Amino acid sequence: MLKDENDFLMISGIQHFAFCERQWALIHVEQQWQENVLTTQGQHVHRRVDDDGFDETRGDLRVVRSMPIVSENLRIRGIADMVEFRRVNEKTDETIVLDGRQGFWTVVPIEYKRGKPKSDDRDIVQLCAQAICLEEMLNVAVPAGIIYYAEIRRRERIELTKEHRQRVEALVAMMRHYYDEGITPRAFYKKHCQQCSLLTICQPKLSASGAKSAAAYIMQHIGGDEE
Ligand code: SF4
Repeated sequence: MLKDENDFLMISGIQHFAFCERQWALIHVEQQWQENVLTTQGQHVHRRVDDDGFDETRGDLRVVRSMPIVSENLRIRGIADMVEFRRVNEKTDETIVLDGRQGFWTVVPIEYKRGKPKSDDRDIVQLCAQAICLEEMLNVAVPAGIIYYAEIRRRERIELTKEHRQRVEALVAMMRHYYDEGITPRAFYKKHCQQCSLLTICQPKLSASGAKSAAAYIMQHIGGDEE
């Protein structure tokens, strides 16, 4: 039986969680959001990619944009920026058959990112989660994906290893625990906080010394008649 997808976690949150667990919780548990230059630029990159229903085949390449994806096993869902299907000669566990099209097709998720490759794995785990969804939905092996970095205008091919897959499963398990329990982790002020879109909401220096969540901070410092 199909599980209730309203209860599924958003794949886009995995990158937030890998960057900072508290940032993810502020966005996805407490529903806080604040645009800054970085997120605005990121949206512009995605706006160029977003094109619901775009589905084009040219020769041996089929491109689908903004493709809904889901994993019932991990209880995650989201939208893949782009999925490329490439026609190959041989049938393998990495190919599928497409309705109305001849031959066998490999499946490659492509994620578009502002900026350049990061020193951490946040972009890779998001891509890997997309691959896991496609594998489950299409019953196919997806051994690699591509991340396009707008700042350097380059595609990076990422081999999706067993370790990447285990990391995704571990991150999603932690996210599920925090989500179900309504937990917002405390802040640890680090250099990357200066790049964070939620810096002013999070108040990491205050949070690290006591305030558990943004809601708690607001109640403590702004909400007049509450203690
Ligand atoms: S300001 Fe720092 S601790 Fe707070 S959410 Fe952002 S990265 Fe995390």
